[in-house]
Amino acid sequence: MRSQSNAELELAEDQIKVLERKLASALNELNEAVVLQKDSEWRLRLLLKVVRNLSMGVVIMDADFVVTSVNDAYCQISGLPESQILGTRPPFESLISKDMELYKRIWVALKSEHRWDGELWGEKGGEQFALHIAITAIVDDFGTPSQYAAIINDITERKQDEERILHQANFDALTNLPNRALFVDRLEQSLLTMARAQHKLGLMFIDLDGFKLVNDTLGHDKGDDLLREAAVRISSCTRDGDTVARLGGDEFTVIMPNLNDAKDAPLVAQRILDALARSFDLGGTESFISGSIGITIFPDDADSSNDLLKNADAAMYRAKDLGKANYQFFTADLNAQVAERLQLKNGLVQALERGEFQLYYQPKVTLSTGKVDSVEALMRWDNPSLGMVSPARFIPVLEETGMVVEVGEWAIREACHQHQRWIEEGLSPIRIAVNLSARQLREMSFVSVLQKLLAETGVGPDGIEIEITESMIMSDKDTAIIALTELHGLGIRVAMDDFGTGYSSLSYLRQFPIDTIKIDGSFIADISNSPEDAEIVRTIISMGQTLNKSIVAEGVETEEQLELLRSYKCDQIQGYLFSRPVPGDELTEFIREKNS
Ligand code: C2E
Ligand code: CA
Ligand code: CA
Repeated sequence: MRSQSNAELELAEDQIKVLERKLASALNELNEAVVLQKDSEWRLRLLLKVVRNLSMGVVIMDADFVVTSVNDAYCQISGLPESQILGTRPPFESLISKDMELYKRIWVALKSEHRWDGELWGEKGGEQFALHIAITAIVDDFGTPSQYAAIINDITERKQDEERILHQANFDALTNLPNRALFVDRLEQSLLTMARAQHKLGLMFIDLDGFKLVNDTLGHDKGDDLLREAAVRISSCTRDGDTVARLGGDEFTVIMPNLNDAKDAPLVAQRILDALARSFDLGGTESFISGSIGITIFPDDADSSNDLLKNADAAMYRAKDLGKANYQFFTADLNAQVAERLQLKNGLVQALERGEFQLYYQPKVTLSTGKVDSVEALMRWDNPSLGMVSPARFIPVLEETGMVVEVGEWAIREACHQHQRWIEEGLSPIRIAVNLSARQLREMSFVSVLQKLLAETGVGPDGIEIEITESMIMSDKDTAIIALTELHGLGIRVAMDDFGTGYSSLSYLRQFPIDTIKIDGSFIADISNSPEDAEIVRTIISMGQTLNKSIVAEGVETEEQLELLRSYKCDQIQGYLFSRPVPGDELTEFIREKNS
């Protein structure tokens, strides 16, 4: 406007008269322009003043992102004086460049859309802070950014408030455990993950028995104390990755993802029951409560969170009905299995001292001579109320409780005594093969215990043989190698049991000091009918012989099987065809007859 007015003034000088009127109006215009200019300068000053005093940080940067001006608020936010910010890259840039992905995203947005805004987290003096930053690129006529303006807000407090509100919405104020909302969320998340990974998940409902009484008699404060303590105890019984939540009142729940076996859930449940059974000290008053627990398993029982919740709830009520202070599975089948295991476990605790275990013996007949040089010792449990229990049922329970180490020691001692008894009865020494459990082999002291037993009973290393399975070796190869090598060094023979059912790799046999291979009975069962099984057995025998191993066929029941095995040049035969496992004294005559 000013240049236009100047031009008109020049014209007016030349044609002053002609343009007198025009000049007057031009002057008028000029006057107006001056007023306007003053006005815009004033406005600009006002604007600058506003920006300077703005509570949000403002940073202006040149095309190279170097700060050209900054307001007080930003100096305060960054904790730096203006002099240190001007002429450098803005301090907030360091928050962006920590994350290369973000850094790239911001620059792409500034180039294409000429703006970016978002939240950045940082740390100052050990304290977390959050900034909201909006950056605008001021572009020239060619669309190239010539300046950048950033508006920065410190949103730390707002974020903290949000988090507090989020926490309040998701956590129970009394126990600080996840509340129902978060529990449902976590359960649904876990179900998705478990479904993808094809893993089981256990869901447990816990309701405190007798809580109402505490609350009514001791008051709500003491009731609250008890709930807090119960929450701590329940949490301490769970595994990493489990979620304990309070659903309200005296109801808790546990999500147990990645359950290997449904039967692992009772371990956790029992721990919780034990923890809740301990007395609660409520400010000098001792109180006792218990818990009733319902357990359901995904995906066996249901696959939606709703159905699982219903199941666990129903199972919990069954636990209440059954007298409280116990846990129940949703399915009858699992309940029965757990009950049986519990019954076995309770019975087994005293079985050893009550003399309920026996060793039976089954002969192995050497085909080339028709003689019995060795027998296998097989354990029997004769319980007054359960009757004769199969080792297939009770050995796993002994393993689980660790009792197998003690009972296994008893079996070896018993086998040693039998070895001596047969010698006393005039038989030539009969080697007795004893089955070992994985747990025994893992005991570091196993070899020395065995040595002690041999010395104690006066049996030579040739009198006892050890039977182990492939899976036992493979589950802890290093320990197995050490133990087996030691045994071998003592002159004790080792047999690989159930060969063909596990890894069945003959190449492994080379790595381990194994003397004998026992071909699993399941292969022998079909050799007369199945050419494949016959071929497998024939191959195992011939390869075993190449490796210089002695071969035993288990579970031989028919003459047909016997003849086939004889034609394959199997070394020894064990099975009902010759004898079932029987008490030692019942086998004496059989051995005497065979060996005469
Ligand atoms: P295993 O070591 O494979 O024992 C062979 C099983 O086959 C025995 O079952 C035996 O009675 C059975 N058997 C023998 N001949 C025949 C036959 O001709 N036909 C059929 N169908 N079966 C036959 P049992 O006595 O019930 O023992 C089962 C398993 O329990 C044993 O399998 C062994 O793994 C374990 N076991 C037994 N005693 C002990 C022990 O003292 N310690 C340990 N750790 N485990 C033991
Ligand atoms: Ca065996
Ligand atoms: Ca076997």
